[in-house]
Amino acid sequence: MPFRIGHGFDSHRLAVGEGMRLGGVWIECEYRLVAHSDGDALIHALCDALLGAIAGGDIGRLFPDHDAAHKGQDSGVFLREVMCRVRAAGYAVGNADLTLVAQSPKMAPHAPAIVATLARELGVDASAVNFKAKTNEGMGHLGRKEGIAAYAVVLLQRVDPPPSV
Ligand code: MG
Repeated sequence: MPFRIGHGFDSHRLAVGEGMRLGGVWIECEYRLVAHSDGDALIHALCDALLGAIAGGDIGRLFPDHDAAHKGQDSGVFLREVMCRVRAAGYAVGNADLTLVAQSPKMAPHAPAIVATLARELGVDASAVNFKAKTNEGMGHLGRKEGIAAYAVVLLQRVDPPPSV
């Protein structure tokens, strides 16, 4: 099949802290993410979208949160492993579209760095990665800053001929 599509979702709780990594970019703010790894929900959603597209399961199965090796893990490591699997399956990323729902922190100043970082990891031009952040208009647990949520959609293209692995 020349194209495969995948969707991913992730969420993490917020706690008082000194910052968090989202989309592989460190963001200084008055919160931190509660997680076994670094809690980069944006990368976790992206990993699940990529794995979804190759019918490769999900990030929780690949990197169990009861595994001490993943404690405080930079989620970029997860993304690089997932991209290895995408390439091994014979696919390259066509484009990726990511949405973060967060009442805080303010994400707009960080968008260019997030797009550049993720494009590099995915092996695509920055024009193939879209990142948008929204508040939840103050509604519900996201609006009360109890957590953040992230959604990702990716399109993969068959590489012809497939890389030798
Ligand atoms: Mg997660």
